[in-house]
Amino acid sequence: MNALPAPLALPGWSHTYSGKVRDLYVPESEDAASSSHLLVVASNRVSAFDFVLEPPIPGKGALLTALSNWWFARIPMANHLAEGPGVPAAPDAVADRAVVSRRLNMFPVECVVRGALTGSGFIEYQQTGAVCGIELPAGLQDGDLLDEPIYTPAYKAPFGEHDENITFERSIELVGAEVAEALRAASLEIFTAARELAAERGVVLADTKFEFGRDPETGELVLADEVLTSDSSRYWDAATYSDASLSGPERLASFDKQIVRNWLSANWDKQGVPPVLPDEIVEQTYARYLDLYVRLTGTQPPFARSHA
Ligand code: ATP
Ligand code: MG
Repeated sequence: MNALPAPLALPGWSHTYSGKVRDLYVPESEDAASSSHLLVVASNRVSAFDFVLEPPIPGKGALLTALSNWWFARIPMANHLAEGPGVPAAPDAVADRAVVSRRLNMFPVECVVRGALTGSGFIEYQQTGAVCGIELPAGLQDGDLLDEPIYTPAYKAPFGEHDENITFERSIELVGAEVAEALRAASLEIFTAARELAAERGVVLADTKFEFGRDPETGELVLADEVLTSDSSRYWDAATYSDASLSGPERLASFDKQIVRNWLSANWDKQGVPPVLPDEIVEQTYARYLDLYVRLTGTQPPFARSHA
């Protein structure tokens, strides 16, 4: 992975960590390891093939934050959003694209649910007839919906390393049987309800990834990170998906950075530094993210798009 830009200085908060997309801060007066709150700032960075690209996509962080919050409000499980007395407010400079959350002890498991066979899962199925140890019926094609969604956890690798698909048994070794089972049950339940809601809005939720943590104060299991955004999920347009005249990538065009991946594949040999994205690719990508937001929520986003 390439270098990340220097994190924004935010009054009252100290920067503690940056992933490819998000920057984490703790209240200045508290210790990073024991703070009770965390500011999670979604940047406008876009990554593809494990590279953070230039330039950022203006509005992307705010759009994904709004979509994640929309889903949190619809999922009947404890989540990490913190508000109320004693909870610090997000700084104005990032208010549209940040959430203040409870700081959890995150489980090192990415809880992936697949409702369709595609991407890396399809490649594995072609080679072995199974995905992450789950045997599937013979003869499935790329993009086929599965009768029952499957839970295919991944080990959340330390920063800069690739996450690794694991079996459910391995997830038990990592977090214990009780937690492993609770993560699987919660993931499948949330996915199933979300898939139905998306279908009502003309969108196929193909797969997604959840992250959970434990509240160190209450011991509660909590849904964290971002949920059901186009960075963490694969969504297809239901009309395109069921159009028999289309095939392959056209039929399964996802509502995310596919436009970026396609442009990069056509314009870069994946050696050295990736080329700068042209303006029209930046704009088309934003339009695609926006399209998903509007379809799912039925509203325009609650912020003015900033190019700052
Ligand atoms: P990558 O660069 O591969 O995306 P990442 O997923 O670690 O790595 P980001 O998504 O950019 O990076 O950063 C968000 C980080 O914050 C993740 O490590 C996630 O597990 C963590 N996180 C999210 N919510 C909480 C929370 N409530 N408490 C503690 N950590 C959290
Ligand atoms: Mg992440």
